[in-house]
Amino acid sequence: MTAIYDMKTTRNLQEAMRMIYFDKDKGRGIWATYLHLLEESIELGRAISSGSKSEIASEAADVAAWLASICNLLDIDLEDALRSKYGCGCPKCRSTPCRC
Ligand SMILES: [Zn+2]
Repeated sequence: MTAIYDMKTTRNLQEAMRMIYFDKDKGRGIWATYLHLLEESIELGRAISSGSKSEIASEAADVAAWLASICNLLDIDLEDALRSKYGCGCPKCRSTPCRC
């Protein structure tokens, strides 16, 4: 069955990754899942070097997806974490834009 996932919010993204991958993520475990995030981060760097915006977008999506998987495994609400840390601008100087 094909599902269309709404990715308008970080919470939507995390829930979609839970529905699609949670069982696989749980079987793989946190450290192997973390290694996938690192691998995708390296691929994002390669995509940036390539200069291809579509490749960069694809790899950025992979990084976000693996990060959401890690948060699902650790029962962390990524949207809450982002809001808590960056909801008032830069977490160090509390300014937007950052003045650090
Ligand atoms: Zn700052």
